[in-house]
Amino acid sequence: MFAKIFKLKIFLSFLLCFVCILGDYLTNRSKSRSVTKALVDNTTHGLVGLICGFILVGPFRERLTTCEAHSMLLVAYLVASGIDADHFLEARSFKLTDALNLPKRPFLHCSTIPLVIFTLLLMTLKFSKSLIACLWLSVFFLAFATHHLRDSIRRGHWFYPLGSVNPTPYPIYLIGSILLPHFMVYLISRSIHLNQSQHEEFTV
Ligand SMILES: [Zn+2]
Repeated sequence: MFAKIFKLKIFLSFLLCFVCILGDYLTNRSKSRSVTKALVDNTTHGLVGLICGFILVGPFRERLTTCEAHSMLLVAYLVASGIDADHFLEARSFKLTDALNLPKRPFLHCSTIPLVIFTLLLMTLKFSKSLIACLWLSVFFLAFATHHLRDSIRRGHWFYPLGSVNPTPYPIYLIGSILLPHFMVYLISRSIHLNQSQHEEFTV
């Protein structure tokens, strides 16, 4: 059983790496500021969030209902891709050219947000130890963190009110994106002691 879980984790990690590289390649190849480029970029964000959701939820599947597990995966995709809606909200326009010509970065791209979510997660892990609450916070954290990490290869991270940091080197972004969901599983498993039987299944 552990060999099966390990193989699935390795497969999902390679899939995540493949989606990142292919998505970035297709985004870079698309015509600048085109709808196609925006769609490819946005879909890549969503798929990265979804695969991170699979890696996160899988080890705890036995303790979740089907509805909870599927809801988490759906939200993982929607939040990871939906973050870019803030471009349109700040531009107050549905036109792509307006959304891409903002004078500053839109509010959902502030990396203080995932830091706050992570802090809430640490507090929940320490004081509440509610697995459901921790998984939901982790879903939101991973959606924001992976989206911001992927965007940071071009623009760096923006930590309001401190300012921005330099763009993230591509290998760091790839390694970070792959390790982050596994780290969240480790963090939750370590803090919320699960029985052996509760680790046995890795299916969603
Ligand atoms: Zn973005």
